[in-house]
Amino acid sequence: MNKRIYLCLAHMSGNEMKYIQEAFDTNWVVPLGPNVNGFEQDLKDFCGVEGKEVVALSAGTAAVHLALLNCGVGPGDEVLVQTFTFCASSHPATYLGATPVFVDSEEDTWNMDPELLEQAIVDRIEKTGKKPKSIVPVYLYGMPAKIDEIMAIANKYEIPVIEDAAEGLGSRYKGQVCGTFGRYGVLSFNGNKMITTSGGGALICPDTAAKQEIMYYATQAREAYPYYQHSHIGYNYRMSNICAGIGRGQMTVLNEHIQHHQHVFALYKELLKDVPGITLHENPSADYDSNFWLNTILLDENLKVKGQEHAYEAKIEGAVGGAAGVTHAAKTLHTDCEPNTNVEAMRLALDAAGIESRPLWKPMHKQPIYAQNPAYVNGVSETLFKKGLCLPSGPCVTDEDVKYIVEQIKQAISF
Ligand SMILES: *Cc1c(COP(=O)(O)O)cnc(C)c1O
Repeated sequence: MNKRIYLCLAHMSGNEMKYIQEAFDTNWVVPLGPNVNGFEQDLKDFCGVEGKEVVALSAGTAAVHLALLNCGVGPGDEVLVQTFTFCASSHPATYLGATPVFVDSEEDTWNMDPELLEQAIVDRIEKTGKKPKSIVPVYLYGMPAKIDEIMAIANKYEIPVIEDAAEGLGSRYKGQVCGTFGRYGVLSFNGNKMITTSGGGALICPDTAAKQEIMYYATQAREAYPYYQHSHIGYNYRMSNICAGIGRGQMTVLNEHIQHHQHVFALYKELLKDVPGITLHENPSADYDSNFWLNTILLDENLKVKGQEHAYEAKIEGAVGGAAGVTHAAKTLHTDCEPNTNVEAMRLALDAAGIESRPLWKPMHKQPIYAQNPAYVNGVSETLFKKGLCLPSGPCVTDEDVKYIVEQIKQAISF
């Protein structure tokens, strides 16, 4: 085996260059233009919900930031964020001087637990005398959250919901596209997501007025004077017309990509069904229709993986999983919360076989930077983190690859 199999590599449709060429030919090499408008229209059509508008931005993180800003989040406020997520769900609250308050997951979808959410709201009101300013549930690995229940609680306490659908583009709950339930919906087009613009994101907005407001803050909050006039602090967050050209090309294969991820899931399901000690994450019921951005497995604690007694003996050298920008070397071999040794041994075995895998996201309430933040936990995300592994699932992963991956998983197990 000489090729390496990655979690989710970008895959071009062949249509991207046409839009990029058009941008050059018409000299729209700026953060606005026909591709930006076209991409926003394509995304809006994809959402399929009457009235919703979409703003294309430079990153999903920027979309979270501007959504929070527009929900009135500011210094001293609290935001309820799913703890089981990537840091971009919570960091923007801190950019605004607010405090992320973390809420744990339920076991069915691995996303925000509605019951804990309500407990957290009641307790924050009791402790601080004011309501959290917004709620950020996440569609982790593409799996829809229990969004009906979350919305019911949010509406009861009149707190706006910002759905972090960065990983959930094309996932559906009861047939409705994820990201269109709350006041705002966040999308990401980073290189490893369902589709890419090399880097980029978008915010699904409730109406044209909200879209205008988001665009205003995404372009340095400029007032309509002949000279630069500012009454607010803005940001340089608009997507460029070149990136949007890539996005328009990618939109032509979005449905194909979703089908491919779901096909890869079905194949894993078939091939892993008789492997004891390994559980694939699945849609909990017919209401849930995950895009299976990343397929994930849990390893039973008692499952013996070859070499697990030597896991964590070597520090990671270089960029973790090929991730760009990982320049801080690990200071220790261990942290106080890490995947079980059988999981790390499986990761190392797959890595040696040319297969990229990665532990599940480490919950935010277990991150050193958030050690002091309030957290409402039930142990679910921490347990999942210790047992789970993400497997290659992207558009470049073939049926042969999946068979090879499962074969390597079986070989790593010592029966
Ligand atoms: C990728 C991601 C983001 C941020 O998107 P970027 O485009 O990388 O800024 C936000 N939330 C989650 C859950 C993500 O996985």
